[in-house]
Amino acid sequence: RVRVRFAPSPTGPLHMGGVRTALYNYLFARRAGGDFIIRIEDTDSHRYVPGAEEYIFDALQWCGIRADEGVREGGPHGPYRQSERKEIYLQYALRLVESGNAYYAFDTPEALDALRTEAEQRGDAFAYNYKVRGRLATSLAMTDEEVRARIERGDQWVIRFMMPENEEVHMHDLIRGEVTVNTSTLDDKVLYKSADRLPTYHLANIVDDHLMEISHVIRGEEWLPSLPLHYLLYRAFGWTDTQPEFAHLPLLLKPTGQGKLSKRDGDKMGFPVFPLEWKSPTGEVSRGYREDGYFPEAFINMLALLGWNPGTEQELFSMDELIADFSLERVSKAGARFNPDKARWFNAQYMHVRDNDELAEAYLPLLREHGVEIPFEKAARIAGYIKGRAAFVSDFWELSYFLFRAPVSFDAKVAEKYWKGENPESVAGLREVLAGIDDFTNRNMETVCHAWIEEHGYKMGQIMNAFRLAIVGESKGFSMYEMCEVLGKEETLRRLDYALA
Ligand code: GLU
Repeated sequence: RVRVRFAPSPTGPLHMGGVRTALYNYLFARRAGGDFIIRIEDTDSHRYVPGAEEYIFDALQWCGIRADEGVREGGPHGPYRQSERKEIYLQYALRLVESGNAYYAFDTPEALDALRTEAEQRGDAFAYNYKVRGRLATSLAMTDEEVRARIERGDQWVIRFMMPENEEVHMHDLIRGEVTVNTSTLDDKVLYKSADRLPTYHLANIVDDHLMEISHVIRGEEWLPSLPLHYLLYRAFGWTDTQPEFAHLPLLLKPTGQGKLSKRDGDKMGFPVFPLEWKSPTGEVSRGYREDGYFPEAFINMLALLGWNPGTEQELFSMDELIADFSLERVSKAGARFNPDKARWFNAQYMHVRDNDELAEAYLPLLREHGVEIPFEKAARIAGYIKGRAAFVSDFWELSYFLFRAPVSFDAKVAEKYWKGENPESVAGLREVLAGIDDFTNRNMETVCHAWIEEHGYKMGQIMNAFRLAIVGESKGFSMYEMCEVLGKEETLRRLDYALA
């Protein structure tokens, strides 16, 4: 059975890359009819950020990514928060010590610092590995009694994985294919610490993936360097038969293509990198897609295509369509460059087909900010007329303010061009036609007025531009008849009379 997990650490808000990882996991699970699990990996107490976990759940909820099992949903493999699973991990670390795959290390911070300085002086980077472990305070050089005595007298210890020397680890990645790494380039990672009685990421992650029966691990490329250790941990536990398959997702790159998109880029480059606004515990505020007026559907659509392609020209995908079409085979190895203009383009596509009532909900407060109060029905009608020209609801004011502010003066350039010749006279005639119309709907006005214009042989472009100038005061706005319909007969005639006076 396909079972995948999204396993964020609550060390800060989820950024776009994290949401994409969650999304691909979700799509993969849904496509396969499998389970999508959310596990919170919070064993690193130093990096814990209050509010981050809440944020992660709120963000996924806004995106429409729902878990089958997890911290909030519960499920048969719980608890799903690692800090609530503390008791589980020590026995697994000890199992590795017993089987000779791990050992106790009692090194003091001072001893490790000394080694680091020594390596630096040689011009090397310090690695805790087969070369140095014999010289250190490890259980490998102690009798069992000595180890027990040290533990009993309260010495701090860690359990480290004993990375084999000079072994080729052959791995398979569903996106990258075969990957081989020689273990001599790796170090003896800490798996468990007595100081806080907590496992490190590597141990907890492998143990939980095993216990939660995870079939596929889909995560960011930054975890690829950990893959050899994870393979060796599965082997050391004797779990290779049920070991999950791995897929490491390509990086999200900055719009310039230069380097990885980071949490800092957004505010610097003028676009959000977070799904929702984030207020850090120290009071810093970072922008969010939601607050910038993005629709979650547009955000998800845009993200889905950052690293995956359907193999066709299709760009617009609902969540259900993504589920139907998604496959890891079509995820690219190369980094995906984020394009903020394309993000806006996606939002515009969703805006154009958005439900008018829903838009009215967001439009009314915007109008209120400008001191305009109109009925809901009217807001929805206007929204329907202008949404085709907007990318965000925040564009609506610029697209409609003239409906609420009658012109007091007229744009001189436009007037010079259109308020001349027979135009003022023809607009005066149009005023009489409109005055005679009872059914002031845009369709009816259009039919009646156009017939009249044709009958009198007026040039459509000329009369319409002059008409627009009279109603709006400048060459702005949408369809004349739609605007007149919204203004209503009385206001339309009033504006025309003012312009004609
Ligand atoms: N807790 C890790 C993270 O924050 C999870 C990595 C993984 O999926 O294995 O990204």
